Amino acid sequence: MIFDMILDGKKIAQDIKNEIKALVSQRISERKKRPHLAAIIVGNDGASLTYVSNKVKACNYVGFKSTLIRLEDSITEKLLLDQINVLNRDNSIDGFIVQIPLPKRINEQKVLLAIDPKKDVDGFHPTNFGQMTLDMESFIPATPYGIIELLNRYDIKTSGKNCVVIGRSNIVGRPISILLSQKSRRGNATVTLTHSRTKKLESFTKDADIIISALGIPEFLKSDMVKDGVVVIDVGITRVVDKSKPKGYKIKGDVDYLNVSKKASAITPVPGGVGPMTISMLLKNTLLACQRKD
Ligand code: NAD
Repeated sequence: MIFDMILDGKKIAQDIKNEIKALVSQRISERKKRPHLAAIIVGNDGASLTYVSNKVKACNYVGFKSTLIRLEDSITEKLLLDQINVLNRDNSIDGFIVQIPLPKRINEQKVLLAIDPKKDVDGFHPTNFGQMTLDMESFIPATPYGIIELLNRYDIKTSGKNCVVIGRSNIVGRPISILLSQKSRRGNATVTLTHSRTKKLESFTKDADIIISALGIPEFLKSDMVKDGVVVIDVGITRVVDKSKPKGYKIKGDVDYLNVSKKASAITPVPGGVGPMTISMLLKNTLLACQRKD
């Protein structure tokens, strides 16, 4: 049987938070500015509120200042854009995020374009996305950045590997496919980006050394779709009704973990894999934004 290595995102994310915490303490002792992250959240979506409150908790842990701006679900696009401009101009704030999804009435692209790229710690603005694509200094979106960091810290080599990404979203699938294909230490893989129109998906996944799944369908990736020794990164987070749980749901990944883990040489669990890494990398981007202003 193949040795199955669980890629413990929770532990690595905690290590990263401790590293950031130490750097913040050092900054304070040198009388430098305390990093400050702001988040705008519109409405009362349960999952979004949980994500944002976890980000605030993480800021408190590492010693960042944080500001949470909660706006009514009924807010107009104009008022939201005005609020973004206030944050763009506020010199005390190093970086900020606008939690998505936004209400349908609001044009997400307009919102994205309104954010000052120097404060765009989510790395979604075209300036950052373009600079990332060209391998220039930028903010790398937190989830793909977290995947790269997890692979690095477990010393999983990507160079020359066949890597299949499932899902082509602008926040996960597409950026991770770009990063892994780049001519750099963290890249040099041969990447296939698959999506809902891909035919015979299993013909790609069966040949993959590394699979990154970001589609949001629980237990979609089955063991007969992968080869022995594959490395599997499960990005999916789906709430599935489970009355036996106190919250009435449980979190499921995209991967049939029980069976795929028997063939994998390394695999991320859900929860406790990519999810916690995402928050730590957002903190890392915020620290970077603050350092750039020194
Ligand atoms: P999305 O929801 O915007 O898009 C889904 C993608 O999956 C699309 O590109 C689509 O083409 C592809 N897809 C759908 N059905 C498919 C099929 N049958 N075969 C192949 N591809 C198919 O994507 P997203 O925003 O990247 O989210 C994906 C999942 O990752 C969700 O569960 C989301 O909650 C999760 N997520 C987790 C984190 C984290 O921090 N761990 C961050 C972002 C997203």
